[in-house]
Amino acid sequence: MVDELELLIDLHRDGERQGPGGADQTRLALDLSGLREKTGLKIADIGCGTGASTRVLAQDLDADITALDLVPDFLAGLTDQSQGLGLRGRIETEVCGMDALPFAPGALDAIWSEGAIYNLGFERGVSEWRRFLKPGGILAVSELTWFTAERPDELNRHWAEHYPEVATASDKIAVLERAGYALLGYFPLPEACWMEAYYGPLRARFPDFLARHENSNEAQALLVAEEAEIALYERYAAYFGYGFYVARVGTTP
Ligand code: SAH
Repeated sequence: MVDELELLIDLHRDGERQGPGGADQTRLALDLSGLREKTGLKIADIGCGTGASTRVLAQDLDADITALDLVPDFLAGLTDQSQGLGLRGRIETEVCGMDALPFAPGALDAIWSEGAIYNLGFERGVSEWRRFLKPGGILAVSELTWFTAERPDELNRHWAEHYPEVATASDKIAVLERAGYALLGYFPLPEACWMEAYYGPLRARFPDFLARHENSNEAQALLVAEEAEIALYERYAAYFGYGFYVARVGTTP
């Protein structure tokens, strides 16, 4: 029997991305970061999946990029999908947990992480990762965010159970400030980053996925759970989504 994690990896490994986002949004965050003007950058893309954001960074920047993820299959996908693109920067992949990064203190000009820091928790992630950044280094992360001060009970209950750290952008920005960052910019991801860029292609892979697993109960159960997540998003997209936060390491007082 294939376990649930293996199924999840099998469902996602052929995707261009494993979470909501888009190349335009990665580029908007890059514009806010000021990194475009710099050369010889050292950057980590944490929880990179198959590398949707990594490729944009490598296209646009003069940088050595270490792309890290816990799942070797996703990193293999990153390498396959990056063939022949004529990238300006260089990508190295590393199988690694985001709680055990292989960098020396102050080694990085930037940490990038789209739709992944929740695995560690936002507050823990931004404070633990800070020490790997140079003074003035850049943190760019997308994170589950409330877009309104009040929400329907069903939605509050859902995220209280699944990700209690969800908060409004102003609360997330306060977390960043307490952890020693100065905010450079924030923007919410548009719905297209969820529906067209992520859930649409994911749904299109359902039939092949079911066929590969001969309609097993486990495979069907996973797709039921995915559909429930999509339905929740479609119903409540006005209230929550991903916020993209770009911040700079401030000077310590
Ligand atoms: N940044 C990618 C993937 C987002 S999905 C994108 O936007 O498409 C979240 C990613 O985090 C997955 O690739 C998953 O394998 C990875 N991940 C989950 N837990 C992790 C951990 N503890 N350490 C490193 N990566 C992890």
